[in-house]
Amino acid sequence: MHQINIGEDLRGKNREIAEENREMLKKHGIFSLNLMSAPGAGKTSLLVKSLPMITDRYRIGVIEGDIQTTRDAERVKKTGVEVYQIQTGGVCHLDAAMIHSALHSLDLDALDILFIENVGNLVCPAEFELGVDGRVMLMSITEGDDKPKKYPLMFSESRLLVFNKIDLLEHVDFDLQKAKAEAAEINPEIEIIDLSCRTGEGLENWISWIEGFYKSCRG
Ligand code: MG
Ligand code: ZN
Repeated sequence: MHQINIGEDLRGKNREIAEENREMLKKHGIFSLNLMSAPGAGKTSLLVKSLPMITDRYRIGVIEGDIQTTRDAERVKKTGVEVYQIQTGGVCHLDAAMIHSALHSLDLDALDILFIENVGNLVCPAEFELGVDGRVMLMSITEGDDKPKKYPLMFSESRLLVFNKIDLLEHVDFDLQKAKAEAAEINPEIEIIDLSCRTGEGLENWISWIEGFYKSCRG
């Protein structure tokens, strides 16, 4: 079921569990990020490309949320990090309870950073708090540049917006300045990184952003 406006009861219950997750993560000193995007924007690719750049410094865990299959989890596992797969069986977002059971299955004392790859969807993932330190949104430039105005909650809830597939910019009709201006109009605080998982452009900025935010949360 695709729920565009979740009920207050469900929202309140989810928020309670999200707070428990937050406490649990804090207690173990784990820094955590929730990655959200439309399907195919490159969340898994971003993890696969960038995790090897920090595994010498941090012990990393990834929770993979997918409606079906373990394909993304298998790709991420190859980087040598701890991976926990959630198959939602049709549900188009992760909620705090799903993360809660994942946290009970992971060895939290053995982790410094936890990435949660949400289900590819621009609507409900933004409505479900998971209890993490921050949300990151990926948008690929092969999507429409009018996304910010169409899915404002996603942009207002995110701390960082990553424009992926930036190497394709000259081949597509995507107005990057317009998309950035609209995102900033919705969320003036949002930080932006241009990136290409294919060429590696922007990966260093992404790593610096993670480390800077990590230190501000756990420093
Ligand atoms: Mg994926
Ligand atoms: Zn959903």
